[in-house]
Amino acid sequence: SQKQRLLVVANRLPVSAVRKGEDSWTLEVSVGGLVSALLGVNEFEARWIGWAGVDVTDEIGQRSLTDALAEKMCIPVFLDQEIVHSYYNGYCNNILWPLFHYLPLPQEDRLATTRSFQSQLAAYKEANQMFADVVNEHYQEGDIVWCHDYHLMFLPKCLKEHNSEMKVGWFLHTPFPSSEIHRTLPSRSELLRAVLAADLVGFHTYDYARHFVSACTRILGLEGTPEGVEDQGKLTRVAAFPIGIDSDRFVRALELPAVKCLIEELQERFAGRKVMLGVDRLDMIKGIPQKILAFEKFLEENPDWHDKVVLLQIAVPTRTDVPEYQKLTCQVHEIVGRINGRFGTLTAVPIHHLDRSLDFPALCALYAVTDVALVTSLRDGMNLVSYEFVACQESKKGVLILSEFAGAAQSLGAGAILVNPWNITELASSIGYALTMSAHEREKRHQHNFLHVTTHTSQEWAETFVSELNDTVVEAQLRT
Ligand code: UDP
Repeated sequence: SQKQRLLVVANRLPVSAVRKGEDSWTLEVSVGGLVSALLGVNEFEARWIGWAGVDVTDEIGQRSLTDALAEKMCIPVFLDQEIVHSYYNGYCNNILWPLFHYLPLPQEDRLATTRSFQSQLAAYKEANQMFADVVNEHYQEGDIVWCHDYHLMFLPKCLKEHNSEMKVGWFLHTPFPSSEIHRTLPSRSELLRAVLAADLVGFHTYDYARHFVSACTRILGLEGTPEGVEDQGKLTRVAAFPIGIDSDRFVRALELPAVKCLIEELQERFAGRKVMLGVDRLDMIKGIPQKILAFEKFLEENPDWHDKVVLLQIAVPTRTDVPEYQKLTCQVHEIVGRINGRFGTLTAVPIHHLDRSLDFPALCALYAVTDVALVTSLRDGMNLVSYEFVACQESKKGVLILSEFAGAAQSLGAGAILVNPWNITELASSIGYALTMSAHEREKRHQHNFLHVTTHTSQEWAETFVSELNDTVVEAQLRT
């Protein structure tokens, strides 16, 4: 039997390419959420289309990389440095990312951005068209095309203009903000119309979907229906598809000898102390300063706890060339230094702050030995760290403190302690509550979350989206 072909289009391919010679490459596969989601989906034959993260200008390089990637079911889109600068660093990361997370830009940046807005938008459209050209080249009748994220909002339009029969879905991995925020974008209408060209538009939460529909009704004057958005009889289906994780992968990892060994080491190192954990990219949206300040307040108010608790903060470097991010790094280092100076002893410090990433076994071991996980995002599309923590807690049954501004609050709200990360007082007292919670309450809360995380997996997410896309297209055909 022939499987349905699925073309997954995302800015980055799930592999990073490093050039070893004129025509030789090494490829490193990265297992993100999307990759593991589609690994588990057997009814489709998935191919990936995206940028490999390298600038390849010569023909030999392009051809040899294309061949190497083909073995991993990947098809490259070649973007040169200039377009990456304006499209990716510029329009995607300096305009759309902060705006979708409700982050105001500093005033000077805002003005500078306003001036370069048109040229960055032009580069964004050009890049989206380059992705479309590669899709069109590889598309076969009956294929499903699944476009991902804020990098590719023009792609549905580019694809449908070329072939109106193509089945096109688009999924956003970030929040979609209130229409009051979206309407400040100079390109607000164009972006919405381009996305609406898709047959199905998906978000992590019902709130984001509602914001998108409101933006379409208020800014474009279209009609919102329970199914989606209607424009002159043409319906674009809009719905929520909360992503999950491959929970089995984490549960299985805890059985590996190497991971068990790491767990024992960590337990020994932190014996007699409760372990609190934060795992975030070092991004403004993660609320890392808020988290650390709340921990300081907790220590201030609870001298008994000084030598009985430790906060491990893994802060994965991201966009390190951007001044705003450099400033955040300095700010966090300063606060951590102050707190360790204030509450540390000759033999122990309250905060271990790491500016680096961990490999999968180390991350699983950390999740497993943690008593209290702290997720304090100021905005976050979903936040998979909270899911991964829960998946690794079957024996410990630790507590999850979770920001109400993370998409995950919609799904793990019943088991987690929900907090407003801006309220340092509330956050500090939640830390106290979590550290002293009865075993009975911890167990009950954990079971709630564990059941959710193990039943709403990434595989199920991908299957649901794709089958909904198939259904949407069939229904549209029936209506005409
Ligand atoms: N992660 C990782 N290595 C690390 C720390 C984190 O691979 O050292 C992974 C983590 O397992 C998770 C992802 O990074 O899958 C972070 O996803 P999340 O949705 O929490 O936040 P994002 O970074 O996408 O905003």
